[in-house]
Amino acid sequence: MQMVVTRTLCDACLTLPVAVAATPPHPELHLCSEYIPIKGENFEAKFKCRACDTIWLHRKNKWGACEGFRLNP
Ligand SMILES: [Zn+2]
Repeated sequence: MQMVVTRTLCDACLTLPVAVAATPPHPELHLCSEYIPIKGENFEAKFKCRACDTIWLHRKNKWGACEGFRLNP
């Protein structure tokens, strides 16, 4: 059976909920940038996965609450 792989995500990244608030980073994710202001008074920082090198963007709102992870576009 042949699998079509469009992105090479590790299992931990595959199971990370996308854009779900209050999602903690999985154990292989580490912060690799500062939190910088983005539009809408939110802040965003890059996390990189040590297992598969995927870059995730983590968003916080102006109160510092987690707004979830998104894949780097
Ligand atoms: Zn990963």
